[in-house]
Amino acid sequence: MKLPIADARATWGYTRGLLRSNRRELSLIAGLHVLSAVAGLVGPWLLGRLVDDVRHGTTAAHVRDLVLVAAVAILVRAVVQKVAQQRSMVFGETVFASMREEFLDTVTELPLSTVERAGTGDLVARTTNDVSKIQNAVRFGVPQLTVAIVTIVLTVVATLVLAPLVAVAMFVGLPLLLSVVRWYLRRAPEAYQAESATYATLNGTITESVEGVRTVDALSLGGRRDGRSDGDLGAAYRAEMRTLGLRTVLFPGVDLTFVVAPVAVLVWGAFLASQGTATMGAVTAVVMYTFQLTGPVWNLVYWLDEISVAAVSLARIIGVRLVEPDRTASGAVPASGEIAARGVRYAYREGHDVLHGVDLDLRPGERLAIVGPSGAGKSTLGRMLAGIHPPTGGSVTVGGVPLVDLPLDDLRHRVALVTQEHHVFYGTVAENLRLADVDAPDERLREALAAVDALTWVDALDDGLATEVGSGGTTLTPAQAQQIALARLVLLDPDVLVLDEATSLLDPRAARHLERSLAAVLAGRTVVAIAHRLHTAHDADRVAVVEDGRITELGPHDELVAAGGSYAALWHSWQHE
Ligand code: ADP
Repeated sequence: MKLPIADARATWGYTRGLLRSNRRELSLIAGLHVLSAVAGLVGPWLLGRLVDDVRHGTTAAHVRDLVLVAAVAILVRAVVQKVAQQRSMVFGETVFASMREEFLDTVTELPLSTVERAGTGDLVARTTNDVSKIQNAVRFGVPQLTVAIVTIVLTVVATLVLAPLVAVAMFVGLPLLLSVVRWYLRRAPEAYQAESATYATLNGTITESVEGVRTVDALSLGGRRDGRSDGDLGAAYRAEMRTLGLRTVLFPGVDLTFVVAPVAVLVWGAFLASQGTATMGAVTAVVMYTFQLTGPVWNLVYWLDEISVAAVSLARIIGVRLVEPDRTASGAVPASGEIAARGVRYAYREGHDVLHGVDLDLRPGERLAIVGPSGAGKSTLGRMLAGIHPPTGGSVTVGGVPLVDLPLDDLRHRVALVTQEHHVFYGTVAENLRLADVDAPDERLREALAAVDALTWVDALDDGLATEVGSGGTTLTPAQAQQIALARLVLLDPDVLVLDEATSLLDPRAARHLERSLAAVLAGRTVVAIAHRLHTAHDADRVAVVEDGRITELGPHDELVAAGGSYAALWHSWQHE
């Protein structure tokens, strides 16, 4: 399953909205460009007049006046153009920055289940490749396109007003230009879309290989992963060749028009002049205007191309906004803090339930350990209890309200999950902790660190809490990173904590010590600990055994041992390890 891609209507609607909300600045910029284009029209017109005047005999003073006017026009044009360009650039940057922020907001609020199902490669490709592809179009394309269109329209109007008969020849290249551009634009979007998709796949493959490098090594999958990357690269190469092929038709086609048009005007103008139906001056001016069109028309074609590429990327970026939320806050307020699971089922893939109707009541303040064989569904159950995914069947409620009906902020203060996967963000230790509580004073950070046995080593770092960690900074061990994740949870201080093997990377003795000091801080909180070390179960108030997607035993450690079921067997074998 891939992330959605916006259709042409949605993409266009978004663009229109963007233009509309910046209407005033855009009109101002367009106005400045009109002024600059008009000033640019003065030169050829004056030159044409000069030719006619000289032919009919004129004074040096008249010539000087005309040259002066031309000089003023050039000066005005330069100044207006500078202001217009500057404003356009600032405008482009502003729009791009706000789009980027908006996109980042969307990405960080994507439902986790969707991201997991779509794979991170696609999302990474959209946040990197696609964003950089629209970057130039938004920054320079929109302003340049405005300039090109304004200049072309005004120049054509000027020639038609000045010498309509001569101007007709200017359009001989038009059929060729239009058919080449149309041919190109018909094929381009699909070809560029395919190109982007090949990059998404390539990204996914490489990210997977890098993330799974240990597995790749352990199973000697290197060759196979290489083969896969080569295949993806091949596809990307073919897609690039196809778009390149399109451009090799477009560019020479457009260039040809620029040769044909001025030559046609010159020949046709010479003919008209010889017939006495046009003056030499008019022909001169129109030829100049035709030359002057070259730049703007090229810009128009170039940016139409760039923008058609960017539109594809934009569709992919806007597509991310179309991901349906996996929950909607209903506004219901829980009557109590008690969490209850009823008939919970969950399927990662349709038709393959990994939980088969789990019932569980968490008693406020209790410590519940979940144990069972690997693959039994413990983590999945933990995610359900923390409201990460809505269950596929049944419900998990807090005080009678389904977890997934609560706004995320509220939910996270009621129940939070820490897994084995944790991330240390680039920044100081303090910043990493304050992700959970922005305003926490240093003293609270230290308390939280002490609760997870981490204060000693943090104090031993060069700058203590202010030490830079994460990529580029001091590297923390996986166990230390796990402690930071747990300290964040202490700061977040939710009513219910779900710990999914959250101390698995510490050595057993340190883990047990940490769990005890954590328990002291968390007294009164409900803790669900998914454990593979049975001392966690031994220390808990109740133990739930999960086997094959069901809770098969539930009760205090001593009772379960006495009952002689699978927990008892597990306990005995663990003790003899
Ligand atoms: P445990 O925590 O007891 O080891 P899990 O809850 O992780 O078990 O997994 C239960 C089952 O769900 C396993 O068969 C596992 O392969 C499957 N599973 C877990 N995560 C995913 C996922 N993201 N996509 C598909 N299947 C998954």
